[in-house]
Amino acid sequence: MTTGLKQPSVAVIGGGWAGCTAALRLAEAGISVTLFEASRTLGGRARAVEIEGQILDNGQHILLGAYEQTLQLIARLNPGKTPESLWRHPLNLKQPPDFSLACPRLPAPLHLLVGLLSAQGLSGREKWAAIRWAHALLHNPRASELRTVSQLTRSQPETLNRLLWHPLCVSALNTPPEIASAAVFRDVIRAAFGGRTHHSDLLLPRRDLTALLPAPAAARLIELGGSVRLSSRVSSLEATPDAITLHARDESAIFSHAIVATAPQHVSGLAASIPALESVVRDVSTYHYQPIATGYIQYDPAFQLTHPLFALANGPAQFVFDRGQSHGQAGLLAFVASAAANLSPDWLDQAEAQLQRIAQPGSPRWRKSIVEKQATYSCVPNMARPDVCTAHPRLFLAGDYTAGPYPATLETATLSGVQSAGALLRQL
Ligand SMILES: Cc1cc2nc3c(=O)[nH]c(=O)nc-3n(C[C@H](O)[C@H](O)[C@H](O)COP(=O)(O)OP(=O)(O)OC[C@H]3O[C@@H](n4cnc5c(N)ncnc54)[C@H](O)[C@@H]3O)c2cc1C
Repeated sequence: MTTGLKQPSVAVIGGGWAGCTAALRLAEAGISVTLFEASRTLGGRARAVEIEGQILDNGQHILLGAYEQTLQLIARLNPGKTPESLWRHPLNLKQPPDFSLACPRLPAPLHLLVGLLSAQGLSGREKWAAIRWAHALLHNPRASELRTVSQLTRSQPETLNRLLWHPLCVSALNTPPEIASAAVFRDVIRAAFGGRTHHSDLLLPRRDLTALLPAPAAARLIELGGSVRLSSRVSSLEATPDAITLHARDESAIFSHAIVATAPQHVSGLAASIPALESVVRDVSTYHYQPIATGYIQYDPAFQLTHPLFALANGPAQFVFDRGQSHGQAGLLAFVASAAANLSPDWLDQAEAQLQRIAQPGSPRWRKSIVEKQATYSCVPNMARPDVCTAHPRLFLAGDYTAGPYPATLETATLSGVQSAGALLRQL
């Protein structure tokens, strides 16, 4: 392919997990890369924030053992430090006093079978209903013909849906079961329980999210001769057959190729004037978004939960995490409310009331709520998710909304970065 530029030089627009991964892959292939990030911090929707003098995250995250691309990359970027980066737990959902499900280290899906048989809070009839349903879901492709998760789970007893399947749907897809895609939910369940035993493990970050992947990826990128431009919002793009021109506040720059690695709600602003991206703009204009709220509450540093993570019921939060145990932030709990469209202003009071069923931590020292209003797209049936290749041979996409096996997750983001960089390299 001919271009006015002597060597390929690529602009990656967006320094979230997708953009950082794509930029790193290209730099490792010997390509000149410039990463543009609008904010002062890398990581996008999974980034560090400073609150009350502590480094926290914009949202408490959790990873699944099935997120192989992300886990491999984190391990590679933090050599010899995997246990200090991520804390691996065999699946153990505890929601005292109503429910608990622990999957033992047995071959999958036997571990789920034994976990369900020994679950607390389910009757014998409910356990067999769950086992039969999960077996059908893992082995029967016809399940995807049902459109929503509510439809997919309608044969299940109410207790199971309330305690297990619907909370899993809300946490994994960040979408209420009434509108969530049955096909994507089935794919998540299959990825977690239908592969290897460790795929259903839960991994808790032990350091802030920027330090986990985006910062070491950027450091490596710079070592390899690339450059990272923070506080550099790209305001528009021009695409000719020979080059891509980026316009930022004070400058314009020409590149041979570009990867647009922004969230879907920011794609249209950049792509609107490029006819080849018309179908992408059309796809993302159909998306709706769901909020996720994270509430941090600092208690006495001597306080800790009996387990690093608990499921919560009867209120806005689905989970509470003990950051003292995971991050060494003694006495700090993180409450997470996914698909939180109807969150009331006093949601942290309600979350504290939910916690009272598990522990009595005393009076809070400080509290902070972070609501990401457009945390992820609603993962609804038959979403149009664009490919990483666009109709313009010099323009590529990366991000958690591109076509992939998972909903909007860190794994979809990193996987899209790898795929986007791979597709670009094949064009050269
Ligand atoms: C509160 C919360 C909790 C979550 N929990 C989980 C979880 O537990 N597990 C999980 O797997 N996933 C979780 N997710 C989803 C996960 O964080 C996202 O799927 C993932 O981070 C998306 O990465 P991305 O790189 O595709 O997009 P983004 O993170 O949105 O990155 C895009 C980047 O582009 C930048 N940008 C935008 N426009 C421009 C421009 N014009 N010029 C330059 N830069 C620009 C943005 O500043 C941003 O840094 C959660 C998300 C949130 C918000």
